[in-house]
Amino acid sequence: MRYLRMFIVAIALVIPLIFLFFGQTYLKKHMEALQYIPPKPTIVEEKEVVQKVQPKKQVVVKKPMEQPVQVKEKEKKIIVIDPGHQRYRDQRLEPIGPDSHTWKPKMPASAYGVSTGQAEYALTLQVANRIKERLDASKYEVKLTRTEHVIAKSTKERAEFANKQNADLYIQLHADGAKDANGRGMYIIMAHENNRYTKKLTEANRKVSQVLLHEIKSAKLDTHKKGLLYADQMTALNWPNMPSVIVELGYLNDRQDDERLAKTAYQNRIAEALARGIEKAVEK
Ligand SMILES: [Zn+2]
Repeated sequence: MRYLRMFIVAIALVIPLIFLFFGQTYLKKHMEALQYIPPKPTIVEEKEVVQKVQPKKQVVVKKPMEQPVQVKEKEKKIIVIDPGHQRYRDQRLEPIGPDSHTWKPKMPASAYGVSTGQAEYALTLQVANRIKERLDASKYEVKLTRTEHVIAKSTKERAEFANKQNADLYIQLHADGAKDANGRGMYIIMAHENNRYTKKLTEANRKVSQVLLHEIKSAKLDTHKKGLLYADQMTALNWPNMPSVIVELGYLNDRQDDERLAKTAYQNRIAEALARGIEKAVEK
């Protein structure tokens, strides 16, 4: 009996110890699990939230800064005007169109007034500047292919300048000086409708020509009897990627045309008519 009591007492002492031991380790494990598990997802969630929110904020800030600036730039029409010729001709050759085997001088010689002696290159720059002054600077960005007389910029390079500017319209100014022309008044030259370089632009070119001729006639400026001529072999008309025409301001070999083209008042009338035509041509 004594041994049995001692055994019972021993078991009674050992069992709680066993419970204490295993209970503690059990609790420890579960406490560890309870302690470790919750922090892990909260750390991951916080990181994810921070990483997702930051780039979104940067993108949102950038977009409204860029958008209004781009829209404003596109709204302004770009008009490139070429004051035909330059002080010195350039006899070096260049192709008359992309991939063309026909080559022509980079810059033909300027014509001169039969009565006043004025140079075609000077007249075209004067009129180009007057058109630029007349066109509203807030609505149109007018760029000239040249602002000086003594330069070397070929016909093809001037068209490429207009292409680089993404111009909406490219107007080239000249004055006829051919000895056998025997004509008088203004006229317009556009690429022929079968021109392989400008077929897609034919309708646009025709509209520009018609609008300009209408304004020239409305201003009661003399118009050459043919008014509108077509050409296929002109470097000036084959290279532009946008609607483009040549405006011949008059005949420098005609005494009457030469003398009135030299007058500021007449140049202003021409510039006014052409500026109105340009406005109508690009607003369509
Ligand atoms: Zn010319």
